[in-house]
Amino acid sequence: MSGERALIERYFLRRHARDDVILGIGDDGAVTRLRRGCELVSATDTVVEGVHFPRGLAPAAVGHRVLAVNLSDLAAMGADPAWALLALACEDGGADWLQQFADGFFALAERFGVGLVGGDLVRAPLAATVTALGQVPRGRALQRAGARAGDIVYVTGTLGGAAAGLSSLLDGTGVTACERRFLFPEPRVAAGVALRGIASAAIDLSDGLVTDAARVALASGVRLEIDAARVAAVAAGDDVIRALRGGDDYELLFTVSAAREQMLREAELGCRATAIGRVVDGAGVGVAGHDVEALQGYDHFDPCNDPR
Ligand code: ADP
Ligand code: MG
Repeated sequence: MSGERALIERYFLRRHARDDVILGIGDDGAVTRLRRGCELVSATDTVVEGVHFPRGLAPAAVGHRVLAVNLSDLAAMGADPAWALLALACEDGGADWLQQFADGFFALAERFGVGLVGGDLVRAPLAATVTALGQVPRGRALQRAGARAGDIVYVTGTLGGAAAGLSSLLDGTGVTACERRFLFPEPRVAAGVALRGIASAAIDLSDGLVTDAARVALASGVRLEIDAARVAAVAAGDDVIRALRGGDDYELLFTVSAAREQMLREAELGCRATAIGRVVDGAGVGVAGHDVEALQGYDHFDPCNDPR
């Protein structure tokens, strides 16, 4: 058996609890069965060492992260996560590295009932891509488009903690609660599922509140007015700028019409949701008292972020 095959079997071929995987790891492709009346929601995201996380990050955190960011995308679509494919490029970091990476990955996969059904393994500088597949009842997927003037803008959880955690990791100040938020982001899967039929639009916050809110505004053809005082109430460490601008929180931003506010109050999101603004006619994002240009989050193709 080749080295690659043996590594896959040893680290990635794990039992899972799903009965809808007809053919999993080991063939040229996976075969899975969709629930009756459901549509398939697919998302893929890559994390690269030195770009999405600092060099030398604990392998369990890398394994967690690459799945979490994808489950977060499924959550933003209101999908039930089901299966994942993992394409991993890593150097020969020894058996321990792969074991810890796999432990981080599967701890999260098991928590959300995700079956790993395939992938790829290559020796190259560290980068990992997951393709996450989920299910949603026909026609019920949440989208970025759909926000209407008059809707209220909400976010789940708290904001800015991951950015604070990343700075703490980089400068060694040791703000451990925030470091944990950066290292082990929690995808808001239950909230996404509960928001089907309630939210008029949704997105997950990967690049920063203002940046991601602008994506909802653009897709919906509206303007989002964010209230900085309300953001302050959910800002980790009371840092409102970080809450407006910081990335990697993986909370959900969503909009709800007045007619559905009561449904929202009764929904079981599994976390708190806080109103932080409203949808109005127009375009873009406004934050009274702030220059939104200065609050833009990370952009890979901004010339300032060119790694060369
Ligand atoms: P192929 O050359 O046909 O693409 P591979 O040798 O790359 O096959 O992979 C063999 C099997 O192992 C396939 O089913 C593939 O999906 C699976 N696989 C490869 N790498 C991984 C991984 N990192 N995690 C999970 N499954 C993997
Ligand atoms: Mg292959």
